[in-house]
Amino acid sequence: MNWNQCFARRTTQMKRSAVREILKVTSRPDIISFAGGLPAADLFPIPQVQAAVEAVFKRVGGQSLQYAETEGLAGLREWIARRLSSPHLSVHPENVLVTSGAQQALDLIGRVMLDAGDRVLVENPTYLALLSAWRPLGVEFVSAGSDQSGMRLDGLDELVLNKRPKLLYLVPNFQNPQGTTLSRSRRHELVAWLKANNVVAVEDDPYGQLRYDGESLPSLFELDAAIEPGTGLESQVIRVGSFSKILMPGLRVGWVAAARPVIEKLVQAKQAADLHTGSLNQYIVWELVQNGFLEEFVPLLCRTYRQRRDVMIASLQRHFSGLATWTQPQGGMFLLMTLPPEINATHLLPHALEQKVAFVPGEEFHLNGEGASTLRLNFSNARPEAIESGIARLAALVKRHH
Ligand code: PMP
Repeated sequence: MNWNQCFARRTTQMKRSAVREILKVTSRPDIISFAGGLPAADLFPIPQVQAAVEAVFKRVGGQSLQYAETEGLAGLREWIARRLSSPHLSVHPENVLVTSGAQQALDLIGRVMLDAGDRVLVENPTYLALLSAWRPLGVEFVSAGSDQSGMRLDGLDELVLNKRPKLLYLVPNFQNPQGTTLSRSRRHELVAWLKANNVVAVEDDPYGQLRYDGESLPSLFELDAAIEPGTGLESQVIRVGSFSKILMPGLRVGWVAAARPVIEKLVQAKQAADLHTGSLNQYIVWELVQNGFLEEFVPLLCRTYRQRRDVMIASLQRHFSGLATWTQPQGGMFLLMTLPPEINATHLLPHALEQKVAFVPGEEFHLNGEGASTLRLNFSNARPEAIESGIARLAALVKRHH
């Protein structure tokens, strides 16, 4: 059988994620990995999860193992809606859909909003798995670029002149892969621009609570959303969140918050995709969050990751001064390093793996073939001593190739 003739045309746009392929190698214990977006496994709260499972079985028994509503566990939706509410904005559980990770929310949004030929505005570079999710839909990605303050807005008007974009996608806090954050003034400017141009934005924010310096900034969703009489919450911003980075990714629990017509369409798409997110996993998350676990756990994550970020930046200063530049993240898990233009990060990777250090080449996060000399470095997963020796090994390697 020639299987290539059997697959749908859209599959020609699909390929394995470079990140997930590198992760297969980097799970070996002798490798120092700056590759995945992995939380620190040594911090996973195993006893608390065990206690939560027992509490759930005691309280609801087999219901936690049964089929459940597509929309998500009512109590968890309420908790998320309360978290998103403020004195000026009351978000209703009907504005929330629980998804199998934020990744599923992004996939479903693409399926219900985008047709082939639609234009999508993104940062450059942007989240690789968003490109993978939406590329097979046949959309055209365009970018006005980004800098230290996140997505650049000065070129947007020009980009919409001859063709209105269908969606704008961005990661406003501690972006993947750059670690940069959209400034407060740009948030206000962007919300006004969305309104003026009638464009919907997808605000993907899995890292927002992992802030190590500076003040926390309002989400685009809260700046934009308003309660309208009759229709309830209206917003041109669709907000996507996740428990992956603030609890654990293996449970695959994320969420999306939006105006009700959007949630209704996403529910229809989710019914076809997987019926609902795992019941027991939702119960575990709900048990943990309603008992206030995040209030102690997120500060612990922030303390640990802040120290690891500081160790990485100090090591970079020691070993890469004058040789490379890097972004200065105020939170999250990543920074993006730029090597001299003659060094190709994809070509460097096999040599780095021989030296037992791993990273993700930045090129695939970029549009238009840019970013060949960039690499994404994760600082949350490796221990401080390993970060220092990993950066030293990388610097020795780069100096040899320079
Ligand atoms: N969005 C961004 C920007 C991410 O970095 C990630 C995880 N790497 C996701 C979404 C997906 O997260 P989840 O584990 O919740 O599916």
